[in-house]
Amino acid sequence: MNTLTERILREGRCLPGGILKVDGFINHQIDPSLMKAAAEEILRRYAGERITKVLTIEASGIAPAILTGLLLDCPVVFAKKKKPSTMGEAFSTQVFSFTKQTTSDVSVARQFLSPADRVLFVDDFLAHGNAAKAIVEIVRQSGATLVGTAFLIEKTFQSGSGVLQDLGVRVESLVRIASLDDCVITLAE
Ligand code: 5GP
Repeated sequence: MNTLTERILREGRCLPGGILKVDGFINHQIDPSLMKAAAEEILRRYAGERITKVLTIEASGIAPAILTGLLLDCPVVFAKKKKPSTMGEAFSTQVFSFTKQTTSDVSVARQFLSPADRVLFVDDFLAHGNAAKAIVEIVRQSGATLVGTAFLIEKTFQSGSGVLQDLGVRVESLVRIASLDDCVITLAE
């Protein structure tokens, strides 16, 4: 994932609290070619896993999730942070947002996940693993199989990877950042 790495090093900016701002190509303006390249790499890593559904959480995971679903030729479901009155029966849990420092409900309509599904969770960042933990719980409620997780960026100085590995969840991160100290983006080995 050299291109993604290069863009992060060139355009990424640090915010207080160990947050990386990548608004120019992931979180606000989106670079579709970069998302496609990321999706190709995710496919390569999960080759042969017979994934039937890509799952993400709104909003920033949707772009890489859609490209992944397009290449896998399978549907993409995003967990909604506010359960609409039209949703009906749903799998639900709570998620703590690292960037917003708030807790919200997340829901997926029951009709979109079934025990027959083999699910890949795709998101932009892995920080402390709260979003992914919520997805683990939703997939558990549905009876589907969580094949694994894929993140564009993992911050290895935060606890997410350990949290997921303790839950027995496979973690694949395209770019791993070891530190944002002094606003220097340092990549993990
Ligand atoms: P976690 O749930 O793993 O603690 O945090 C992951 C979620 O928080 C991601 O879905 C992402 O939207 C947001 N997030 C976490 N860290 C960062 C960051 O450094 N920069 C940005 N832009 N979003 C982040």
